[in-house]
Amino acid sequence: MSRFIDKLKIDYPNITFKLGDGFYWSPISRSVIYNDLENKINSDWTLLHEVSHAILNHKSYKNDLELLSMEVLAWNKAKEISIKYDINIDDDHIQNCLDTYRNWLHLRSTCPECEIRTLQTDKDTYRCHNCHTIWKVTSERFCRPYRKIEDKNKKSLEELSQVTFV
Ligand SMILES: [Zn+2]
Ligand SMILES: [Zn+2]
Repeated sequence: MSRFIDKLKIDYPNITFKLGDGFYWSPISRSVIYNDLENKINSDWTLLHEVSHAILNHKSYKNDLELLSMEVLAWNKAKEISIKYDINIDDDHIQNCLDTYRNWLHLRSTCPECEIRTLQTDKDTYRCHNCHTIWKVTSERFCRPYRKIEDKNKKSLEELSQVTFV
């Protein structure tokens, strides 16, 4: 794992790799955060996935469907670059990860009143075309807030709402 991260650091000098509490891509700081303690067999796959978000320059998304399509693109890219590292990303793993997003999307887009599947009106709002119920969703599941460090100014508040990709 640590040797693989060293290869990535050399191959992608424009990306900052930071040890953190999980695996994600932070577009604002152009950093891939990784967790070395997570000794899972698929750590390398996840790392390739986050690097792919970086290569594809994923910054933000307009709605949940766009986020899902970015996830698909990131996995496609991960498959592509995995060849040169002689890593074989399991397709079932990819489908499981994407299913997590699909289920999440399904839950968010289903009307709480009449259980009809609806379309998103904006990033945090859904509106049912059948019963006209409107409900808010948060991006919390896929948007990890920056950890509050020592500064208490406005900037840290802005940073709290930055988008990251997992
Ligand atoms: Zn409804
Ligand atoms: Zn992702």
